[in-house]
Amino acid sequence: MKIVCLDLEGVLVPEIWIEFAARTGIDALRRTTRDEPDYDKLMQYRLAILAEHKLGLPDIQKVIAEMGPMPGAREFLDALREDYQLVILSDTFYEFAHPLMRQLGWPTLFCHSLEAGADGILVNYHLRMPDQKREAVKRFKELNFTVVAAGDSYNDTAMLGEAHGGILFHPPENVIREFPQYPVVRDYAALRAEIDAAFARAAA
Ligand SMILES: [Mg+2]
Repeated sequence: MKIVCLDLEGVLVPEIWIEFAARTGIDALRRTTRDEPDYDKLMQYRLAILAEHKLGLPDIQKVIAEMGPMPGAREFLDALREDYQLVILSDTFYEFAHPLMRQLGWPTLFCHSLEAGADGILVNYHLRMPDQKREAVKRFKELNFTVVAAGDSYNDTAMLGEAHGGILFHPPENVIREFPQYPVVRDYAALRAEIDAAFARAAA
C-alpha cells in the first residue's frame, strides 16, 4: 500500500505569490520568507497589500486560474494516480489552490485556509497545524502506507526525511548542496522513474 506525497508549488504549479506579483505588477508581493523570516509578519503584510489594491478573493482566483499548472503536470498526475494513492501536501491555501486543482483534476490536497470578509477582501489566514507536511507523512506511515515524497525546497525537507523515500524536484542549488542525501530530478519522466525506484528500494 503506497502513497506518493507531492509538494504543489514549484513541482506542479508555479510559485503562486511570485507569479501573482508578476501578473499583477505588484512588486511588493515579491517578498518571500527569505526577505521576511517571520511568516506571520509576511502574511499580514501580503494581506494588507492585497486589501490596499482592493483585490478580493474572486479577483485573486481569476489571476491564479490564468497561471495554470506546469506543462505536463496533469498528465503526470493522471498516470501516477493509476498506480499509487496521491496526496498533495502544500503550504498554500485552499482558496488560492482551487482554480489550479480544477485544472489538475481535483487531486487530494492538504493545506491551509484563508478567511475573507463579506466583500471578498482577505482578512486573515489559518494554518491547519504546524509542520503539517511531516506530520501527514508520519500519520500515513502509522496507517501502514509506504510513503515516497517529492518537493523542491526547504519547506519540504522534513517531509522528505520522514518518508521512506525522498526526492528533490527541480530544487535550487543551495538546497541540493545542503541535502545531498536526496536524488535530484528535473522533469516529470525522471520524477516518475525515481518514485518507482524509491518504492522498489523501500520494499527491498
Ligand atoms: Mg514548493
